[in-house]
Amino acid sequence: MFCPKCGKEIMDEAVICPKCGCAVQIDCANDSGSEMKSAGKGFCISGLVLGIVSLVFSWIWYISLSASIVGLVLSVVGRKKAKLASAPTGIGTAGMVLSIIGLSITGLVVLFTVVLAGAFVAAFA
Ligand SMILES: [Zn+2]
Repeated sequence: MFCPKCGKEIMDEAVICPKCGCAVQIDCANDSGSEMKSAGKGFCISGLVLGIVSLVFSWIWYISLSASIVGLVLSVVGRKKAKLASAPTGIGTAGMVLSIIGLSITGLVVLFTVVLAGAFVAAFA
């Protein structure tokens, strides 16, 4: 068969056109198709950006903590939306992974700070 959007010849069992990324089982030529293709994209990109923010500011726990939690939620929601519409989920996955890493680093930083503060108090009490 041929991709309804870009016209490239693709395998009959293909779900997504390898050239343009169009979900060929859903008709991409119409508006709802392109809407489906970008489904969840905003969520995924916001999640990715917040994941990066949580990593960059992982040493400022309150920034990283809020960024990673919101980033994780947005990425998961975005991925779900994209998956339902057979749109690419790569950005959402990346956002999810980065948010989880950011969250783990923040957890370690908080733990380290608490332990350090505890040791400090113990040493001088
Ligand atoms: Zn195509």
